[in-house]
Amino acid sequence: MEVPAFLIGSAVVLGLILGSFATVVAYRVPRRESIVTGRSKCPNCGRVVTVVENVPVISYLIQRGRCRGCGTRISYRYPLIELTTAVLFGLAAVKFGWSVEALVFAAFFWVLVVLTAIDLEHRLLPNRVVYPAFVAGWVGLTITALVNDDLGSLRSAGVGALVFGGFFFVVAFIYPAGMGGGDVKLAFVLGTFLGYVGGPGVVLVGMFLAFLLGGVVGVAAMAVSRAGRKTQIPFGPFLALGTVLAIFMGPAIVDFYVGRL
Ligand SMILES: [Zn+2]
Repeated sequence: MEVPAFLIGSAVVLGLILGSFATVVAYRVPRRESIVTGRSKCPNCGRVVTVVENVPVISYLIQRGRCRGCGTRISYRYPLIELTTAVLFGLAAVKFGWSVEALVFAAFFWVLVVLTAIDLEHRLLPNRVVYPAFVAGWVGLTITALVNDDLGSLRSAGVGALVFGGFFFVVAFIYPAGMGGGDVKLAFVLGTFLGYVGGPGVVLVGMFLAFLLGGVVGVAAMAVSRAGRKTQIPFGPFLALGTVLAIFMGPAIVDFYVGRL
């Protein structure tokens, strides 16, 4: 399937704009501020960010990463979040073309970007993001399944949620210190989307990649910091990354191994 460049370009631009909104949500939700009212302000001097200063990535580059009011450094996190969202939206367009799936999965990736940003800063996956994501995810995928007359994928989503979420639930039950409640709840969401894309095989690939990436980085961080096990590395970003990789590469990986059996 050849996806028109125009569609991919539009998805990237939309990703930049919604990526900018993701930075707002990721900043405000943990601080219990409204995400709909109130203009963005410099956290240092309180200067209200103007429309011109709010163009994703470009404003950051023009201002050389500094506030126009006080000259304080603006975190590189903002353009990084915007770029990441843009890339993920572009990839969603490439994989799913002009379809309901593309919209639902782009929205899912947006949530993962928000959760990753919050977890990295606050070591927290807020219920106020994870619960709506679970409900919206099921609504979106149900609509997709009905549009495509593909209830089999919806069943796979249910199995995926039970496999991924269930596994994390058991791990958290046996070893509560090792896994946060937010990770367990998020796992049910991730399993839903992975199951929808490719069934249990892709769910397992996603889980495997999350543990692999988290384990490698965790060991490396311990070695560097010598802080031992007290260094708390949030698991949410690895869950998100493993899931995204599995959505795009999982089906091919599963085919490869199944073909060798
Ligand atoms: Zn400022």
